[in-house]
Amino acid sequence: NPITNPILEVENLGRRFGAFTALEGVSAAFGEGRITAIIGPNGAGKSTFFNLLSGALKPTSGRLRFSGRDMTRVPQARFAHLGIARSYQITNVFPRLTAHENVRTALQARVSRYDFWSRRDARTDLAVRADDILESVGLAGRRDRPAAALAHGEQRALEIGIALAADPRLLLLDEPTAGMGPEETKEMVALLRRLGESRTILLVEHKMKMILGLSERILVLHHGRLIADGTPAEIQADREVRRVYLGQ
Ligand code: ADP
Ligand code: MG
Repeated sequence: NPITNPILEVENLGRRFGAFTALEGVSAAFGEGRITAIIGPNGAGKSTFFNLLSGALKPTSGRLRFSGRDMTRVPQARFAHLGIARSYQITNVFPRLTAHENVRTALQARVSRYDFWSRRDARTDLAVRADDILESVGLAGRRDRPAAALAHGEQRALEIGIALAADPRLLLLDEPTAGMGPEETKEMVALLRRLGESRTILLVEHKMKMILGLSERILVLHHGRLIADGTPAEIQADREVRRVYLGQ
């Protein structure tokens, strides 16, 4: 079923590195407030796709639109500002700062320097908003712990909290459950489900069981091409996907 008013559209998107084609001819549209998973074997082009969507890389072919705006040539720094945030495959927090300070610092980056220094309430606002974000990612009880002292799963949740500081409409998450055991994975899934109620989430994941239960839609990349795009049931039944990805 076609998507009306997509928040994100890619058209024939591609990226070469020299003579090597990492991604080619990817077209898809994404509706607001949904969770979509991107899967595919190692080297399929998943991170390259994410790098294009977050502006970290520029496409060598095709186009990218966000919220009706052509983003193909927009500089990366503008992406976060326009409502696209991402987390990385590698945890990316300030280890010595507390959970609260990490989120507050991210929020502060969005406030004008003038407001920050001239208005005491601007600083109070930031502290309150940082607490709201910690609450929403389940870290209220870890507020004053240095990030380095948090459990791995908690650091990943904090990373998402940092991304939320930009109040993004689109969240790109590269392997949010990497390195997590079953318990931490379960908590992350619950968090993603809550966030997916009000934001559009695209995630790269390897844990099939988790993806099938969490996402409404799955895109499958293989050798830089989009070989399938459908509901979990459709993807599970897809013969090419089973052949190249599930090894069946
Ligand atoms: P995935 O995330 O699905 O494992 P990537 O998008 O990281 O795959 O990589 C896709 C392919 O593109 C790989 O073969 C990788 O070696 C290549 N590639 C990715 N980034 C670069 C780069 N900066 N320069 C050269 N080749 C790259
Ligand atoms: Mg990758």
